[in-house]
Amino acid sequence: MTFNQKQMKKILLSELKKAEAKVTHRRVACLLESFKGSVYTGHNFEKTIPMHFYHAEDMAINKMERSKDKSGIKNIIMAGYGRLNKYRQVSPCENCFKLLKPYFKKQTKLTIYEPNTHKYPLKFSLKEILKSYAKIGYSKISGNNLSSIKKSLKEKTLLKRKDILFAAGLRLLGLKNHIKFYLTGSSSGRTGLVKLIKEKQKKSYDDIDIVIISNK
Ligand SMILES: [Zn+2]
Repeated sequence: MTFNQKQMKKILLSELKKAEAKVTHRRVACLLESFKGSVYTGHNFEKTIPMHFYHAEDMAINKMERSKDKSGIKNIIMAGYGRLNKYRQVSPCENCFKLLKPYFKKQTKLTIYEPNTHKYPLKFSLKEILKSYAKIGYSKISGNNLSSIKKSLKEKTLLKRKDILFAAGLRLLGLKNHIKFYLTGSSSGRTGLVKLIKEKQKKSYDDIDIVIISNK
């Protein structure tokens, strides 16, 4: 039996009703469609004593493994309900990504519905998924004068013009006083799927996250 998009969404949303999130109030469900045409669903469950969060993807993968379906994953479809307002809060976490990865094929796709509304699905190809979950190391901002620092920031971050000037000022201050500044979060352009989600939504970063390490 094969399912169309609409049917799969219906199955996914009924799975979502089973989710329990007493701690975070973020209910998540996952549907996996295999190349054989079978679907496997899972929902998250937050156990409080002892505290353990079971993820929706994990449950769905378990079902697929138990049924000995080795055809691979054609579609990963995610939905969320509750105290969620961002696509990334419904997307597979690092650990779930690792669990899913062995079942990826070239045509594997990830679809994430907008939390709560269950509309406006964002779709990601395997290439996009792999790229966004790949580990990216730190990059060092070079230069010791304003123009070379600005150039380096432009190449290595997503910072907008006025923010480049601000960050360059920090670097100059750091050089003078031996303080290290680290740019983290979405403006650094190293947030994987979050960056991709923002691109698809035609949005850029919301704020600049900076970490300063003190010598004391
Ligand atoms: Zn997870």
